[in-house]
Amino acid sequence: MATYEQQMPRRVYPLRVLGMGLGGVVVAVVLWQRQAAVGAWIGMVLPCFVWPHVAYRLARRSADPYRAEIRNLLADSALAAAMVPLMHFSLLPSVLLCTLTMVDKITTGIRGLWAKSIPAMLAGGAVATLFTGVHWSPESPLPTIVACLPVMALHTISVSVVSYRLIRKVSQQNLLLDELRRVDTLTGLYGRGHWQEEAEAALRRHHTRSEPACMLMMDIDSFKQINDQHGHSVGDEVIRAVAHVVRGNVRATDCAGRYGGDEFAILLTGMAVEEAVAVAERIRAQTEAIRLRDMPALRMTTSIGVAAAHPGHGTLRAWMDAADAALYVAKNAGRNRVTDSAAPAGAAPAAALSTSDR
Ligand code: GH3
Ligand code: MG
Repeated sequence: MATYEQQMPRRVYPLRVLGMGLGGVVVAVVLWQRQAAVGAWIGMVLPCFVWPHVAYRLARRSADPYRAEIRNLLADSALAAAMVPLMHFSLLPSVLLCTLTMVDKITTGIRGLWAKSIPAMLAGGAVATLFTGVHWSPESPLPTIVACLPVMALHTISVSVVSYRLIRKVSQQNLLLDELRRVDTLTGLYGRGHWQEEAEAALRRHHTRSEPACMLMMDIDSFKQINDQHGHSVGDEVIRAVAHVVRGNVRATDCAGRYGGDEFAILLTGMAVEEAVAVAERIRAQTEAIRLRDMPALRMTTSIGVAAAHPGHGTLRAWMDAADAALYVAKNAGRNRVTDSAAPAGAAPAAALSTSDR
């Protein structure tokens, strides 16, 4: 498939035919008004109506079409400037052609091309002056002004359309980038950064409006063993399967994230702790029931620490520490269980309710 750079001559060709052609009409009106000699007409026809086709062939035949097209673009600038002495410096069309050719260089987005086109234009103007001599006639009568109008309008609109398309494309790409930044690619759950932002916001709402919120910190049990015994790709499949269970147990208003390797963090907004423990228990039980299609004998379990947001949680860190501490208790109590951070130390009411091995 042709690359963007290889396609450049084909993309530029119609634009050059149109741009140089419309410019040629303007120059023709000026030449017609001053009853120019045949030499001047040839000097207009060759660059405005023949050059675009020559440029296309040159670029297509080149071993490096992109570099050839850059040369052609600089030649466009030189030829546009050459029209200035040919028009005896008629002010409006001269400024118009030089401005448009410069705008075209800027809108290519090629770094520094506009700056390189300045010496090209000076050279084009100087060489043309050698042929035509210096004839100073800057006034622009009405027919010349009228001939300039379609060029001005069409060029302005086409540049705006190109810019509009570019802006739309960039904003779509930005949305995609933002989505990639927010979402963990393995699981499709939110990544750590976005999850933390959501949790910070939920804690602020808890402090300002007493809105309840709970956090589940969840870690797959003995996951290293799964990796060691079955390989990393099976490990990845287990993470995906557990993430699927998590996604199936949260509401659209909640925020489920993958916090680290085999660790998940789930934010349940507007939810009391009893309900959050029930959600955690469902996730625990469904994780235990997972059967991978290719490895039906493989078992996996998860431990979950639950912490309700509390006025004493001055920072997100403090809230997360509470959930982590509950997770630690669940791990130490034998794994595959749910522990509520508010449960009295030593007792394990949530754990006792939620383990499957009794
Ligand atoms: P515990 O029950 O105490 O949690 O024991 P564990 O073996 O699960 O220990 P831990 O949670 O510390 O292990 C996490 C492992 O996850 C360590 C790391 O090699 C593995 N891991 C981290 N990210 C990935 C990943 O993206 N894919 C896979 N397959 N493994 C990962
Ligand atoms: Mg683990």
